[in-house]
Amino acid sequence: MLAAGWSTAAYLLWASSIVPDGLELPDVDPHAYLPDRILARANSFERFLRWNFALSTVALFGALAFYARRGERFMRESAAGRIGTGMLLGMLGFAIVWITQLPFSIASFWWARRYGLAEGDYFSYVFGDWLVLGFTFLSLCLALLIVMGLAGWIGRWWWVLGGPVFVGIAALFLFVFPYLSDLDRPRDRALVAQGRAIAAKTGVDDVPLRIEKVSDQTKLVNAWAAGFGPSRRVVLWDTLLDGRFSDEEVGVVIAHEYGHHARAHLSKGLAWYALFAIPGAFLIELLTRRKGGMRNPAAVPLSLLVLVALQFVALPVDNVISRRMEAEADWTALETTRRPKAAERLFAGFTRTSLSDPHPPTWSYVLLDSHPTIEQRIAMAEAWAARRGR
Ligand SMILES: [Zn+2]
Repeated sequence: MLAAGWSTAAYLLWASSIVPDGLELPDVDPHAYLPDRILARANSFERFLRWNFALSTVALFGALAFYARRGERFMRESAAGRIGTGMLLGMLGFAIVWITQLPFSIASFWWARRYGLAEGDYFSYVFGDWLVLGFTFLSLCLALLIVMGLAGWIGRWWWVLGGPVFVGIAALFLFVFPYLSDLDRPRDRALVAQGRAIAAKTGVDDVPLRIEKVSDQTKLVNAWAAGFGPSRRVVLWDTLLDGRFSDEEVGVVIAHEYGHHARAHLSKGLAWYALFAIPGAFLIELLTRRKGGMRNPAAVPLSLLVLVALQFVALPVDNVISRRMEAEADWTALETTRRPKAAERLFAGFTRTSLSDPHPPTWSYVLLDSHPTIEQRIAMAEAWAARRGR
């Protein structure tokens, strides 16, 4: 019955899409949109980052496997009680992961600087995001407190309550996230008017447009949709507005982000999270049982390995779901702006400005791409134009 319920929910979340069924994407030759020099540059830029990711993953699993085997030893020194000891082991695991990942993170920053895509010095790169670091650290402690507290109370059934509690926390975080970010109102009147018109057209005119200043850290361009109910926002990075993109192209981005809200993608994302988090919590209990389950602090190092492994296994599925929503947002942008040429220039512009490889290797597409490729996005704009006779 549980499996049937799960499948029905997944089917309902998956099935509804405004992208026409059987929409054929034409073959796109990126050379028709971008000079060879840029394509070669994007290719070499991303190739390094891909291998950096592959190696960092190997290092991550190596470190976590080692910690899962040996981590318990540190328990003997702890006099912090059951949950306190579990949290200490969690913090130690977090520190080990952070240190293992640091060289790869620095390597990717070094690489982005070489290509002129990152700003600032190494020190502020590593420690500048201390708020995020502190937040992750506290979240891990809170998660362990909840899991071990529940496991002390209802034993191996903690996941039945723990799973929904984590979904509740995720929902709360989805709601408050826009308030935690440092966002400005747009000052350019034309942009404000353009944002309002697009919001009205997509049917979410109560969602405000905001600007996030990132130009002191990066030259990359981006935008995001966030929040829930009254906290919903569409946010543009200020790098998108520095003159490298035309107003029409910026309009496509704005319409894409409003498309996410119009199609309730953030709530759907949360629903997908619930569909994975609850069985995931069950699997963590099941797979840590040989260390006494999550009641026992000795299981904490192993639970970190299991958690990261489950997240890794879920990555391809996560990306399939995300790419489907992104395609839907692109389709909404085309229907709203009716500017397929601007969309094509915008997507090609992502390769120019952010060096996204238009045609990544399959393994990287499967593991890393939360968006359709630049080639696929251009192809969708062409397909839209062919259908609408533009
Ligand atoms: Zn998107």
